[in-house]
Amino acid sequence: MTPDVAAAKQALSHIEMDENPATIRSKSRDFFWYSPMLKARLDHVQADFVVNPKSEAEVIEVLKTCYAHDVPVTVRGAGTGNYGQAMPLAGGCVMHMKNFAQVKEIHPGRVIVEPGCIIKDLDAATRAHSGQEVRMMPSTANTATIGGFVAGGSGGVGSVKWGALRDLGNIIRLRVITMEAEPRVLEFRGEELARVSHAYGTNGIITEIEMPLAPAYDWVDMFVAFDSFPEAAQYACDLANEDGIVLKLASVYEAPMAHSYFQRVKEHVTETDTLVGLMVAPHSMDGFETFTARRPGARIIFRSDANDWPRDPGPVFEFGWNHTTLRALKFDPKITYLQVRYQFPKHLELVEKVRATFGAEVLQHLEVLREGGKVCFAGLPLVSYTSDERLEEIVRMHEDMGCMIFNPHRYTLEEGGRQSADARQLAFKREADPKGLLNPGKMITWDDPDWAYDRIYDYPGMLQVE
Ligand code: FAD
Repeated sequence: MTPDVAAAKQALSHIEMDENPATIRSKSRDFFWYSPMLKARLDHVQADFVVNPKSEAEVIEVLKTCYAHDVPVTVRGAGTGNYGQAMPLAGGCVMHMKNFAQVKEIHPGRVIVEPGCIIKDLDAATRAHSGQEVRMMPSTANTATIGGFVAGGSGGVGSVKWGALRDLGNIIRLRVITMEAEPRVLEFRGEELARVSHAYGTNGIITEIEMPLAPAYDWVDMFVAFDSFPEAAQYACDLANEDGIVLKLASVYEAPMAHSYFQRVKEHVTETDTLVGLMVAPHSMDGFETFTARRPGARIIFRSDANDWPRDPGPVFEFGWNHTTLRALKFDPKITYLQVRYQFPKHLELVEKVRATFGAEVLQHLEVLREGGKVCFAGLPLVSYTSDERLEEIVRMHEDMGCMIFNPHRYTLEEGGRQSADARQLAFKREADPKGLLNPGKMITWDDPDWAYDRIYDYPGMLQVE
């Protein structure tokens, strides 16, 4: 199967395209460089051309034409993913969904939206329409698209209340187009959603999304400081378990993270302060203050509704989730990170075990989330990178201690997940992408069902470094 890129490009020349080589390069990249392992492997990857379809009919035409000419298609939202998800490993066509940004319908408790809508704009639209907000969003909400979140994200701001993105009820419906000789338009709900959500666009293009909404609040951003990390972690957990206090975010940053990496916060903390970042609903502030006053170790150092800080630190969620890593990387390019799940009921115990094992080599950054209704932690610890071998060893040691790792130093779905095939995604890919042209190289079980997961997968079809 040899792609005929020139023929596909010619046939699609009436559709909006980016011709500038610098634009093609930038639209072939995402935040893969967070990982030193991915940076070394993916830096050269580039599409042959970029199309910006304006309608579902144009999406179908792109898929049909590329299918006819055996050209790979990698779909792109805003390119803020961290694992090379939106990078065209085999070249070919990048389909940028920027023109699919319409908020179509807003109803009590739900919204219907096109995938290229920036989450911040979606949230603004639902607030203005009927005082509702997006329940869950990545910390990149100001730049990322809702389609990229559904296809590439996992949870974030709101997960303290609503759980992970793929938990039942957090996505209502998806409209998906297949890549076949005659592309089909399908609608998925309930059980079927797992076929394409968090599938990196490997088995269908999402063209419409129905998401749940919640009442909108003018969230109060808070920073609470502690001398002791275990006390801070316990506080964040207990607060999230106070069901009457409405939260959207609870993050824990081990000392000296806030002092070393959080500009505008630095002057208000010491090197030994562990910080808790929170978003609290205004009507919950009384309950929150009462709860916090009962903890002698807790010091409220910032609240966005009343403070004398000379410089606004910005939204507290832009300190959390993967923004913590971004802030640290700005100061120290040798820092990288892991994604750890500390599951209930051993979450607090496991975190302490990891801290005792690694000390300052692995600094704890925790995000409180609900899993099956139980409060636990997603960890995005900052790791002081020395070599690939040591990083792999740190991952193994976490697993040996009983932590679940979602490895951010891998570009495939399986390695970034549970190291096994997602049978539903694979089965749907067989049906929806028979030539394997959608975002190739991201689903190992499509390429090599017997892969042993004993080393990083090296996609054989990857473009060669020139
Ligand atoms: P892209 O990066 O463009 O795409 C992501 C994946 O979705 C790709 O595989 C792409 O091919 C696929 N895709 C995009 N559009 C479609 C479509 N229409 N149909 C099918 N497939 C499609 N992630 C979280 O989950 N939570 C966080 O809190 C979070 N915080 C982050 C913080 C920082 C600083 C950074 C750099 C990243 C963070 N991320 C987080 C990762 C990423 O920002 C989010 O997952 C974001 O929602 C991705 O959206 P995007 O538009 O940038 O998608």
